[in-house]
Order: sequence, then structure tokens, then C-alpha cells
Amino acid sequence: MRHFPVFLDLSTSTALVLGEGETATRKATALARAGATIRTARVFSPNLLDGCAIAIGADAPDDQLTALATAARARGIPVNIVDRPALCSYISPALVERGPLTVAVSSGGDAPVLARLIRARIEALLPANLGDLAAFAARFRDRIRAALPSLPARRALLDRVLSGRIADLVLAGDPAAAEAALEAELAHTPTHTGIVHLVGAGPGAADLLTLRAQRLLGEADVIVHDRLGTEAVLDLARRDAERIYVGKSRANHCLKQHEINELLVSLAREGKKVIRLKGGDPFVFGRGGEEAAALAAAAIPFEVVPGVTAALACAAQARIPLTHRNATRAVTLMTGHTADGVIAMDFDALVRTRATLAIYMGLHALPHLHRGLTTAGMPETTPAALIERGGTDRQRLLTGTLASITAQAPTWSDGGPALILVGEAVRHGTNWTA
Ligand code: SAH
Repeated sequence: MRHFPVFLDLSTSTALVLGEGETATRKATALARAGATIRTARVFSPNLLDGCAIAIGADAPDDQLTALATAARARGIPVNIVDRPALCSYISPALVERGPLTVAVSSGGDAPVLARLIRARIEALLPANLGDLAAFAARFRDRIRAALPSLPARRALLDRVLSGRIADLVLAGDPAAAEAALEAELAHTPTHTGIVHLVGAGPGAADLLTLRAQRLLGEADVIVHDRLGTEAVLDLARRDAERIYVGKSRANHCLKQHEINELLVSLAREGKKVIRLKGGDPFVFGRGGEEAAALAAAAIPFEVVPGVTAALACAAQARIPLTHRNATRAVTLMTGHTADGVIAMDFDALVRTRATLAIYMGLHALPHLHRGLTTAGMPETTPAALIERGGTDRQRLLTGTLASITAQAPTWSDGGPALILVGEAVRHGTNWTA
């Protein structure tokens, strides 16, 4: 270790920033955020250092920077001259900040780029709202100290609070439930109810997951999943996590929806941390709404983690914009599938808005959709695309018009999940040909 790491309290101190420019401003802003009173100057003179706890130089002529470094060192004031390691008495680390929680990374000045790469990895690892957890712990510090005067007992409780279910509740954005759970712990009546995360797995490519979904997959005890292309994503789960397949494909339901709801409730009641993993986004044709309602009715804490829905993944990979200011200003996510096969849809309204139609589960209904849309006045020549397994490395794309796609779809499709895009914006796709 070349440098001794410390975190300085500058809240009652003065900091000198010498120089004028972008870097100097950035440094002054950072020091001010730590509560320091900032003294700025373009030209160095020794009395500028009077009463200073720290000094930084940047964006100033060489002789000025050297004078600052020499004077500060002579007076024992920590000094950093940006990008001039030889003039520094301390170096500034790469930072990851989560509220009061700060991670500082240093390579001792040898490889700042490496330190920044490591910082990026830590960024991905730590939940964005980890600061909420620190704030939660701070809020209840006195309460916990009063309830548990013995230090070992307090440590044990804090361990549980900061890593277990209470932390899950805080990070899932439910501080009220977290507080209730903490009070129950303090009253020695801990509840053992777990938590359910309704997680969007995106279209199937593991790197289209959100960081939150990735973190939760690494933590969950049980993953309840369906078929839709979630294998690559499942690989990210904890090795020893239990996996329960409740898959659904058209007209072939493995478990009925109410059975899935009951399963989620009973797993949570066993105290488990449950992920309900769903293709795309849980709240877009994913029955996430029904599962959320069942969990709420059973008073099970739950969180919804969004995912990249098929329409967005397919459009992006097929290079078809969903809106275009010269064509359309609205997008409609719709389905061609209904429980009894009858499509009760207001085709006039669909056509009138000129929205790009993103049709989920639409292959079977395509002839009916075609008839309804054209009867309502949509030209047969409206640009359209059919995207199979979009957002994965097995994507297939068929472009054409409402008429040609409707005619070709049955023989072209090889059975993978497929989405249909219809509308004038499709014409602006860089791959689109009729
Ligand atoms: N919740 C999911 C949709 C579930 S409904 C989401 O937000 O994406 C299932 C339908 O979604 C499929 O029938 C298909 O129309 C569409 N779909 C899902 N994944 C797809 C993919 N990778 N490519 C194309 N369409 C997909």
C-alpha cells in the first residue's frame, strides 16, 4: 500500500482550489458537496493557504501549481495537483457513492484506468438506492441501541437488518413495511414472511436485464419462471436457488394462473425470497397485474422490476423506430389473443390514432386483424414487419406490408415468439423493404 486511505471530514474546513477551468470547477464542486468552504484563486500566494485543511490545483500555469505544491507540503496541508502525481501529497480515488456510503478505489497512482474499471464493476454491483438502507439504519440507531443495550446482540440484529428481509423491503421501496418488520424483530415477534419480486427478464438476452434484476437473481431462494426465452437469464441465478417451472405457451398452460398466484403466496409465507421471472416486462401482457393483486390481497410484500418488453426489443434489433416525427407520435401495445378467440376491438379507434401497432400474440389472429384494420380504413399497403425471437441472437425478420405479412406469416413463422409491427413509422426502419 503506497497511500494511506482516509475519509476527511471537511464540514468545518476551508479548501483552496487554485486554477480556473473545468477540472478546477469539478474539484470545487466535489469539495463543496463534502461541506467544505471553498476559497478559489487564479494566482497563488502563500497566505491563501492560511486556515486551509486541503488544497487542490488544476487548470493553472506550471509555476503556480509548483508553488502551491511546495508551500502546502511545507505547511503539512494535504495537496493534490491534478494529473501531476509528483506534486501530490495525496491522490484522489475513483468513487462510488450511495448516499453516505462511499467506496473509494485507488491503484496507488499506477493505473488510474484500472481503478476506474473496478469502480464501474462496483457501480453495477451496488443497488442504486443502497443509500436508503444506510439512512434507514441511521434513523433507527437510537431505537435499536435502547432496545438492545448489549453490543453483540445489537450487531447480530443489524446483520439481519442490513442483509435480510428488512433490507429487501427498504431496497424494494417499502420503508413502512421495513419499519414494521424491524419493530417486530425488536419486540421478539419476528414475522417470517418473505418477499416476492415480479421481475421482467427482457427478451431473453442476459445483457438486456436491468442491474436490479441481475442482483436479485443472485440473491433469490426460489425462481418461479415460464418458458419464454428466459434460459440465458436463469443462468445468472444463484446455483443453489430452487427453480420452479410454471411455463405457459399458447393454449398449453402448465399451471393455472390462480395456482401460480397461490404458489407465490405460499412460498413467501415460508419466508423465502421469491423471484417471479417473466419474459419482457411483467406488466405488459404478462399477467403481472393479477399476481400483484393476489400478493397484495395476501399481504405479501412485493416489488415489480421492469424489463425490456418485446415491442422495444424487437424494434431496436430490427432497427425499426416505433415513433417518428414525420410519421407517427403514438405507439399502441396490443394483443391479438383473447381467452375465447373472439377479438372485440375498436378497429376504428386503432386506425384513427395512426399509432404504430405493436401486436403481441398476434399470429393466429392476423387474418382477423387484417380484415378489421382495412375495413376501418387502414391501407393494405401500410408498412409492417414480423419479428420472431427479437432481442435474441436467433432473431428473424420479415418486412413488407399489412397485406404481404398477413399472407406470408403462416408459412414463414417457425413457431418462436413473434411480434408484428404495423404503421407508417415502420417505413423508416433502416432494414425495411416492401
Ligand atoms: N411480458 C412480455 C409479453 C408476454 S406475451 C413482454 O413484455 O414482452 C407473449 C408474447 O410476447 C409472444 O406471443 C410474442 O408476441 C411476444 N414476445 C415475447 N418475446 C418475444 C420476442 N423475443 N420476440 C418477439 N416477440 C416476443
